[in-house]
Amino acid sequence: MLALALLFILISRVMKRNVKRLKIKHKIQAGKITYSDLNTPAKPLFSKRYRISGKPDYIVKRNGHYFPVEIKTGNHYEPKKNHIFQLAAYCQILEENYGGFIPHGILIYSDTSQQFKIPFNPKIRFELESTVNKMRKSLKTGKIKRNHNDSQRCKSCSMRTYCDEKIN
Ligand code: SF4
Repeated sequence: MLALALLFILISRVMKRNVKRLKIKHKIQAGKITYSDLNTPAKPLFSKRYRISGKPDYIVKRNGHYFPVEIKTGNHYEPKKNHIFQLAAYCQILEENYGGFIPHGILIYSDTSQQFKIPFNPKIRFELESTVNKMRKSLKTGKIKRNHNDSQRCKSCSMRTYCDEKIN
């Protein structure tokens, strides 16, 4: 009986160590994971204010605050503007769905192991609002212009088939 108990303790310690190693390797954030779209598809969350929906990769609750975490592939060493806005949109969605202040989101580039804390501050809130407004206007008029000259971005874009503005 004692041997069995010792074996159980040993297995549990090894498992804990493995989980800790995996968390560090994949930059899993400390705190309680309350939502995840990584293992199984999660339900999209909706912002009534901006009429946008989205699914962060996962949501963590730490010290009484929720924050979204988005994991991107790609060889990036700096946060990309479109990824910052995507994360800001998730922060907005979380604020409406979970109630309370969302201080920041976390952006992770898995290929370069870079991690960035993106504050959800007044400046980014304002920029998010004006970007959403511009997008709505473009959708209404049907005039959508490309806002970059990055052929790599077009190459990996999911809208490429339908886009008249793509760079070949
Ligand atoms: S294919 Fe079109 S939508 Fe996609 S990145 Fe290029 S210009 Fe933008």
